[in-house]
Amino acid sequence: MKEQETYPKLSEQVALITGANRGIGWAIGRMLLDAGVRVAFGCRTGADAVQERIRGLSGDERGAAVLLDMSDSASIEAALDSVLHRWGRVDILVNNAGIVRDRLLLRMDEAEFREVIDVNLVGPFRMVKAVLRPMMKQRYGRIVSISSVVGSTGNAGQANYAASKGGLEAFSKSVALEVASRGITVNVVAPGFIETDMTAGLPENVTSGVLERIPVRRFGRGEEIAHAVRFLVDPAAGYITGAVVPVNGGLYMP
Ligand code: NAP
Repeated sequence: MKEQETYPKLSEQVALITGANRGIGWAIGRMLLDAGVRVAFGCRTGADAVQERIRGLSGDERGAAVLLDMSDSASIEAALDSVLHRWGRVDILVNNAGIVRDRLLLRMDEAEFREVIDVNLVGPFRMVKAVLRPMMKQRYGRIVSISSVVGSTGNAGQANYAASKGGLEAFSKSVALEVASRGITVNVVAPGFIETDMTAGLPENVTSGVLERIPVRRFGRGEEIAHAVRFLVDPAAGYITGAVVPVNGGLYMP
């Protein structure tokens, strides 16, 4: 039998989170900062304001806002370089950034389909490929991607988004198989409806209809997604890989 491996403590680890200026990404960053991790908050916009907020929480030593646009390979490489330059390693990647461009398929044009796939699925492909090199060298890594319940169930008006999230789950399982022997786990957290800007714009009748279908009878909070991520990135979670963890108030039970 293989000897028990020793992993760096969370307080010695470095995380990079995409889409971390607000919503679920910000909640994940905060929770990892609280756990003692050094956290790079990937920001497409609002990096200066995020750095101010981090300063108030942990000081500038353990948290940094880094510019990061998932639709741009050069931006991804630059963000990763700045993390490696600053802290010398990257142990945790959370692919959280995501967009919606909702429309019934008959009215959806190809650009709207491609844009969502590019940010939500090709983005994580670019990001994972970039971090695998340092993680393989370290022989340690924790990758978690945020999909959605609709990646399994589908949703009218979200053919582009549902395809991107279902694809993200299949992508993650495939990469999990490729890197399992290197001490790197690859998992997915699949939220149901969470209170963020993404759901704030839903019309009242849609919100009440959705609430009726959620057994827990409320939308989730960003911290509740962060909690599942925190569990999966723990060094002790090394035997969990290729998993899709639902956090949806009982809305869908795979
Ligand atoms: P949100 O409040 O709309 O925030 C989206 C985040 O993604 C923002 O930080 C945004 O940055 C970032 N982003 C968008 N395009 C980007 C790009 N090209 N490059 C880098 N970052 C980009 O959404 P959220 O609710 O926190 O969602 C976070 C994740 O959870 C998403 O993947 C979403 O699909 C998933 N999810 C959410 C729910 C929900 O009910 N809220 C349910 C299931 C899954 P900017 O501020 O610069 O635009």
